[in-house]
Amino acid sequence: MKPLLVFALSLTTLFSYSQKAENIIIITTDGLRWQEVFNGMDSSLANNKKYNQDDSLYLYRKYWAGNESNRRKKIMPFLWSTIESTGQIYGNRLYHNYVDNANPYWFSYPGYNEIFTGFPDTLINSNGYPPNPNTNLLEYLNKQPGYKNKVAAFGAWDAFDRILNEGRSGFPVYSSFDKFGGIKPSITEQTINKLMQDSYKPFGDAECLDVFTHYAAMNYLETKKPKVLYIGYGETDEWAHSGHYKDYLDAAFMVDKWIRDLWNYVQTNPLYKDKTVLFITTDHGRGDTIKDEWTSHNNKIKDAGQIWFAAIGPGIINKGEVKKAQQLFQKQFAQTMASLLSLVFKCEHETGVKIDLNAD
Ligand SMILES: [Zn+2]
Repeated sequence: MKPLLVFALSLTTLFSYSQKAENIIIITTDGLRWQEVFNGMDSSLANNKKYNQDDSLYLYRKYWAGNESNRRKKIMPFLWSTIESTGQIYGNRLYHNYVDNANPYWFSYPGYNEIFTGFPDTLINSNGYPPNPNTNLLEYLNKQPGYKNKVAAFGAWDAFDRILNEGRSGFPVYSSFDKFGGIKPSITEQTINKLMQDSYKPFGDAECLDVFTHYAAMNYLETKKPKVLYIGYGETDEWAHSGHYKDYLDAAFMVDKWIRDLWNYVQTNPLYKDKTVLFITTDHGRGDTIKDEWTSHNNKIKDAGQIWFAAIGPGIINKGEVKKAQQLFQKQFAQTMASLLSLVFKCEHETGVKIDLNAD
């Protein structure tokens, strides 16, 4: 090979994305612990009759491996292949890489508020809190040139209407059992609506199964071509509260598969390819295994404010699993996500400073 060609090839490897991000897909999976993300299945929970749903055989066959790096791959194979090899993953406390809630409550509404507004508002202290008074990043983006009417949110939980202040924000928020497609649903939307309506509803009327949220969001991405899409999955939290460790791991496994589907879609579609970042995180952590507190989370549960996040796409160099000792907070995500689109999130409240994902 001629030296010049070698040089050109190594440049392409170094700068694999030729452009900056213009689109972002934000993904959350409610209350998925960093413990499973980084260490894989916990054998003490899989062995515990209280939690293994009488199927430790299934759990061991599907999710067990002798060491942590192989084990975590069994739950989240896409995170620990493509994202590890081309993106960044933060929050492994083994390396003192700490990511935490800045809000003092460690449950969902305060957590999502912190993610989307960058402001850990202490007045937001209940999941029943009224429509969010704080301006969020999505409504800010919806007002920026080129982004108007190109923002949409899909969440399994009905509280997203209030968290994202659907009434004020000016972009659609499809939550829980909201019908997709408005007054003129397409054939696909009609089918998703019917399946959702007639589906098993283990979480009552407040939350649908993730599969409906996912396929409705995917259909929206394919047909409406948003520049900013939020997808909020909920089953990881619900099954953990129920003490269903098998369902909890299966829910995390499925979210990882759907992240793969989203990434494969954007990277094979010219409108999105090499112009789209994925930002993946969670609203809060949960308790530890040792005290049987893994099912729960709030400020009385030790360590439940410990979280993690990952990102992949243009403008994000490959660091893989970040092993640097540092303290990051959820309140920094809003400005970080804005900066990935080369924007600054301007609003009436204070915000956490952006994380420079490409700094040493
Ligand atoms: Zn919860």
